[in-house]
Amino acid sequence: MAQVKEHRAAGTSGEIRHVLPELPYDFAALEPYIDTQTMQIHHGKHHQAYVTNLNNALSKHPELLTRSLEELLRGINAVPDDIRTTVRNNGGGHHNHSLFWTIMAPAGNGGGGEPSGKLGDAIKRTFGEFAKFKEQLSTAATSQFGSGWAWLTVANGKLEVAGRPNQDSALMDEKIPILGVDVWEHAYYLKYQNRRPEYVTAWWNVVNWQEVARRYEAAL
Ligand code: MN
Repeated sequence: MAQVKEHRAAGTSGEIRHVLPELPYDFAALEPYIDTQTMQIHHGKHHQAYVTNLNNALSKHPELLTRSLEELLRGINAVPDDIRTTVRNNGGGHHNHSLFWTIMAPAGNGGGGEPSGKLGDAIKRTFGEFAKFKEQLSTAATSQFGSGWAWLTVANGKLEVAGRPNQDSALMDEKIPILGVDVWEHAYYLKYQNRRPEYVTAWWNVVNWQEVARRYEAAL
């Protein structure tokens, strides 16, 4: 499974730019749970727009292009006033979606089931059992008002579930995101219309636990 380790690349003229990562699978790979057209528009239009808007904002302060995306988000309050909101929304959007693509995989071929190993143990320790964790994250996702995400994060070795609005990143409050479900309408409306809970239920079938476990162990 491809991993997004670097969100930037050198352009043809040598300047550093943030780039749209390729999907680690085909647009149709998450069918029938997430439909092909949603994947195409979500990745090619929405995520691309976050990358483009981020680059445009940073071009006003080119010295910031030498910072990693994680550094920018962790230090969001130090980003100059005139571009801070744009970096928060679009840098957050770039980071959130780059993670999102990797923590999904085709159902039955890397996607779905339950985590084992250290992550499985930590989930049981923290939430009692996997089903309770699943219920808590699903509730955070379905009850998030308006656009946002529900996240599983790690801070000081501890797991936590919380909803966050818009494209706010857990990095902005010193937590490391390891799993997130996008509940912006653009993530599900073509197939599920207003039925967000149905989308969230379906999404569990494509969670790539191997990648979430890798991110968990890296965060410790
Ligand atoms: Mn999205």
